[in-house]
Parts: sequence; C-alpha cells; structure tokens
Amino acid sequence: MTAMNDKWPIGVFASIDAGLGVRLEVAHELGVPTIHLHTPHVGSRTPQRAAEFSKRLAELGIRTTCVFAGFEGESYADIPTVNMTVGLVPRETRAARTAELKAIADFARTLNVDVVGVHLGFVPHDSSDRDYRQLLDLTRDVCDHCKRNRQALHLETGQEPVDVLIQFLNDVGRDNLFVNFDPANMILYGAGEPLPALEALGSRVRSVHCKDATWSDRPGETWGREVPLGEGDVDFAAFLKTLKRIGYDGPLTIEREIPQEPERQKAEIGGAIELLQRLKSKM
Ligand code: MG
Repeated sequence: MTAMNDKWPIGVFASIDAGLGVRLEVAHELGVPTIHLHTPHVGSRTPQRAAEFSKRLAELGIRTTCVFAGFEGESYADIPTVNMTVGLVPRETRAARTAELKAIADFARTLNVDVVGVHLGFVPHDSSDRDYRQLLDLTRDVCDHCKRNRQALHLETGQEPVDVLIQFLNDVGRDNLFVNFDPANMILYGAGEPLPALEALGSRVRSVHCKDATWSDRPGETWGREVPLGEGDVDFAAFLKTLKRIGYDGPLTIEREIPQEPERQKAEIGGAIELLQRLKSKM
C-alpha cells in the first residue's frame, strides 16, 4: 500500500450513495489511497452515516481529501444547461444552495475532511455585474463558514477563462479560497489552454482532477468530449511537469464518469493509474 505521505498519491472520485464515480471496492482493489467524495444525498448526511462511512474507509485504507458539493437539479447535459442549473450562479436556488453548501461543509467536518470543493457555475465575466457582486458576497460567506470549520474551499476550474477566475479569487479576498484544477474542463468548456492556466494559477492550485477530453469544433458553444485518460488533448506528461514547477504535491485524483460496472471501472481506472504511475516514475 502507498504511504500516506507520498508525493502525488493517486486518488479517484467516488461516492457513498450518489451513484457517481468509482466504486470504493474498485478503488481499494486497485490500491488507491485517496478519494474525492461526491457529497451524499441529504438523507445520508447524518452523523451516523458519517461514522459508518469513516469506519469503512479506514478498513479499506482510503483517505478522503475533499468532499465535493453537488445540488439537486444540476444538469451537465450541455453548456447552456450548465449555465442555467449548476452551482450558486442560478438565481432561483442561490440562497438555498448557499445554505446547503455550508451544511455540506459541516458534513465534511464530521468526516474529518478539511477541503470542500464546488462548481460555482458560470461566474459573470463583467465584475460590475450585480450577479458578480452577489457571488462575491456569497463566496465570502461560505469561505468564512469553512474557516470556522478549519476548512478550505476549492473552486472547480473550467467554466471561465483563467484571468476571470484569478480576478474572482482576488476580489473574494479570502485566505482559505483555492482552486481544484481540472484540465479537461478547460477543454470541454472551451475556456482556454489548460497548462498555461495551471501555470498562471500556481500556488492557488491545492487539488486536481486528472481527467481527459478532446476539444469541440465549436469551443464554448458545444461540449468537447470526455475520454479515457491519455486518449484526449491533455498532455499529462506536461501536466505533471507543470504541477512540479508550481510546487503541487497533493493527490492526483482521477475523475471519470462511467457506469458503476466493476469490471469496466477496474479496466479503465486501472489504465489511468498505470499511465500516471509511469509518468510519475519518469519525473
Ligand atoms: Mg472535475
């Protein structure tokens, strides 16, 4: 088993009951020491379930490095639908989801997890926009809540170009606000070349998703295509070199949404792990 204090431990995106990501049994069988956890449904966010889940993870030798928030009603069907349904951006659900995000942070605390991840949604590019200013206030509020929990908040990348993201981070102005860098999202959303973005974000990157994708022929209008690691337009050798340059040594968390069929997951996630291990050993 991999030591917990290794540089770049492998991770996978997994769930307790959301039916997403990699099954825990598969992660265990593949020797994966860390996970990002999709937040469970509200009914499962109880102290009792948290205790059961923590016990199970301890038995499997797996550590949760981030709890990723998700909300009822979000859909990633296409880019306009993401714009209307994902994160704290949609106005109708903004207040309720902000409250729920804090509850998710509290649940993460009961799991003894110090990091909460979230897709904010499409942050407006114009910083004088009323929605932009409201999102700043809500993000500060959530950061301050996380701070009281001794937690950091990580924003998922990809839905905006890196300069907009950096401006937003600066404008929020909280020292526990960081970035979960997902190179494939930059490509899927047509938000710019991932590696220069990673370099520009530098030490703000405190977690990553290892996911691959190919560009759309109409970037920003239609989705690119998510593909198995190593088959897309993300250059993972260069990705690791850039991570090294910016001083990142946290987990390499593989994200791949495929059906929860153990054999298929074992083959695909196993392939991704092999690729990352091979690249790591060359560095
Ligand atoms: Mg991701």
